[in-house]
Amino acid sequence: MRRFFLLVFKGEQHGQIDPQSRTEAIETWACRECESLLPGHEPQDVRLRAQAPMGRQPLMGSFSLFVGFFRRPFLEVVCDGDIDRHFHWAFVLGQNGKPYRDWLIAVGRRRIALRGSDMPIHNYCPVCGTLRYVSRGGFFLYAPPEDVDVFDALAGQLVVTEPVMLRVSEQKWYKLNITEIPVAPEPLDDFGPLPLRKEPPDTSTRPE
Ligand SMILES: [Zn+2]
Repeated sequence: MRRFFLLVFKGEQHGQIDPQSRTEAIETWACRECESLLPGHEPQDVRLRAQAPMGRQPLMGSFSLFVGFFRRPFLEVVCDGDIDRHFHWAFVLGQNGKPYRDWLIAVGRRRIALRGSDMPIHNYCPVCGTLRYVSRGGFFLYAPPEDVDVFDALAGQLVVTEPVMLRVSEQKWYKLNITEIPVAPEPLDDFGPLPLRKEPPDTSTRPE
């Protein structure tokens, strides 16, 4: 039986994207409603709102835009050197427009819902159809695909298989929390199998 592990940054910091850069993103590649990467699009470089360096953490979420911030050396270990295989990604730019050498924003090519039995809530984005799921705890996975070993659990969190976790654990990473997430034989939130995306209703006839 395969084992799965959640990789999360234990600190409080998030990536802070410049408001203008966020606006450009939701006019092009990010959903205007849920701010996640639109199907069939690639993320573009984002600019930070503050010059300050973001610390030593290997990964973190973002205050705006539904993307993860990742240190490139960390993501290379996660992906065994082939980031393109597992992620859509783009550069993180400073306020001077120059890219940071080792920070990327990235969205996994394969997503997984980190489901939970403690106060779970879910719905689908009315614009892009992406599953939105929140729970306070009792986390579990349901029917993870067989052929994937790196999953995006959204908000700068990853779910990986045991071999990936062992590879990551060979190095020390600042405030990286690694927790095993069980695979439940039946969904413990009573939501049944949840597709990660549902075709949104046709909005072409609806007024903006
Ligand atoms: Zn959306």
